Amino acid sequence: MPALVYKNKTINYHLTPSKRRGSIVMRVNKDASVHVRAPRFTSINYIEGFLKERFDWIIKRQNSFKKLAGLYPAKEFRTGEMFPLFDQSLKLNIERAKKQRVPICELDGKNLNLFIGDVVDLKFKAAASCAIRDFYGAQIKMRAIDIAGKYSKFLNVKMRKLSIGNQKRIWGSCSRKGDIRLNWRLALMPFDVMEYIVVHELCHLKVHGHCAKFWKAVEGVLPDYRKHRGWLRRNGLSVFFISDWG
Ligand SMILES: [Zn+2]
Repeated sequence: MPALVYKNKTINYHLTPSKRRGSIVMRVNKDASVHVRAPRFTSINYIEGFLKERFDWIIKRQNSFKKLAGLYPAKEFRTGEMFPLFDQSLKLNIERAKKQRVPICELDGKNLNLFIGDVVDLKFKAAASCAIRDFYGAQIKMRAIDIAGKYSKFLNVKMRKLSIGNQKRIWGSCSRKGDIRLNWRLALMPFDVMEYIVVHELCHLKVHGHCAKFWKAVEGVLPDYRKHRGWLRRNGLSVFFISDWG
């Protein structure tokens, strides 16, 4: 693995030569690893120059990822483990049921009951995380339908279809046809922030870009929407960490 030593610090990076022409692409993954994709025959000098220009940003990004990984260790999916749902914290309760072919996750007061069959350990985490993700998705769908019902008339818009996705970088999107797609991770945020994201997408049914007219529409529904945007700026990355279940 190539290493760049600069400003008394070292960045180890994975280098993948790409067949396509074009520019260098670099990203820092959540495990703090650095990946560089560069057109074949790009000189190491050039690549290092590229990285040096972004050196402080890379170090900063690596440090914040390391800090978040310490704050939010990977979930183990064991009874007693806490899972957020909007403004509350739920306690996971695993019920092993032989006949349970498809794992199911249900809300029971402040407990999150997971009914799961006799899956072997290796598959257990995948099956459990999938069931919990589906549970969160259903929660989001239910709340978003409520919110759309509450504000659509006021905004004079109509949502055609609502779906839930596992988007890696965005919270929600709205197509020109009127289909709204929301990230299941919205269930890991405070309720008001989730509501803001739903309203944001509803307003896109009216105005497509992020122009002044668009923000005016958002403000008309949620006068303090700036507060929620601020929350997302500060905490958005940690939501992805909490939900990184592998
Ligand atoms: Zn938008």
